[in-house]
Amino acid sequence: PQALRELLTQHQTKQRPAVPFATAPTVALLATAIEQKKLSIVLQPKMDIHSQRIVCAEVLSRWNDPELGSIPPDTFIPLAESHGLMQALTACVLDQALQWFVGSPLFAYGSFAINLSTSCLVDVHLADRIEAACLNLGVAPQKLILEVTESTAMDRTADCFDTLTRLRLKGFRLSVDDFGTGYSSLAQLARMPLSEIKIDKSFVMKLQSSADALKIVDATIRMAKGMGLTSVAEGVENAEVLNTLKSLGCSLAQGYFISRPLPAAQFDTWLKEYRAA
Ligand code: C2E
Ligand code: CA
Ligand code: CA
Ligand code: CA
Repeated sequence: PQALRELLTQHQTKQRPAVPFATAPTVALLATAIEQKKLSIVLQPKMDIHSQRIVCAEVLSRWNDPELGSIPPDTFIPLAESHGLMQALTACVLDQALQWFVGSPLFAYGSFAINLSTSCLVDVHLADRIEAACLNLGVAPQKLILEVTESTAMDRTADCFDTLTRLRLKGFRLSVDDFGTGYSSLAQLARMPLSEIKIDKSFVMKLQSSADALKIVDATIRMAKGMGLTSVAEGVENAEVLNTLKSLGCSLAQGYFISRPLPAAQFDTWLKEYRAA
């Protein structure tokens, strides 16, 4: 709170940045944006490859600042991470996601997913807070998938593991994101209370050009199946990749070929049209 206050004061004194992306003023703007709920969300569908039905939507956050323009998550998420703003950001994302989900056609037959970082999982009250936010809007925990990166999931810090276990016991589903980019062992993976593995897009995007990528994706899908987990390929950009994934027995696909991440209203319209087609 002290750091946040300092950052906000800094912002209020309207110090002009020497360069547009100087870190301090950007952090102050980000803190303000989170506080005033000015971050927005976009949604990207996860499609069941076999039935072609949309079964889930991943929630991704967006920051559009009137002065700085649109700042990519790969820039502002690490910034929020290193300045203690991730808990507030995640609360803001979950609120908006729930508001959207209860009014979306997906509510009746699908689920949604949000991303959680390590700095959120160390919060011992996180599981209770997420549960309260969901139940408050009548959303069953089974409807929400929590995506954590491979390195976060394998973080042996007691608090992280506790939070993930608590979330699982409450009925939330857990997904390992960016799988293949960390260094988890099979033993570690088997110990986690997981329901889904998301194969990192760096492998999926190279499926056609790299024999190694093909082997890695194939092995990951088999392993997921063997462990009773859903396999998701992210970064599916064309029909050839989707067909390869289908022949490998991958459960779900996500990527620009199906849809880019869309703002809430646009996503719902897209979904209705997709279902009608
Ligand atoms: P991620 O969780 O791995 O999300 C997938 C990223 O791949 C998204 O980037 C998405 O827009 C992009 N993507 C989807 N389909 C395709 C495709 O076919 N081709 C390519 N090249 N890219 C595709 P985005 O939205 O820029 O987010 C980047 C990362 O920022 C996310 O990676 C996630 O780690 C983080 N992030 C975004 N929003 C949040 C959030 O609310 N909380 C947390 N903790 N992290 C977030
Ligand atoms: Ca993700
Ligand atoms: Ca990912
Ligand atoms: Ca990623």
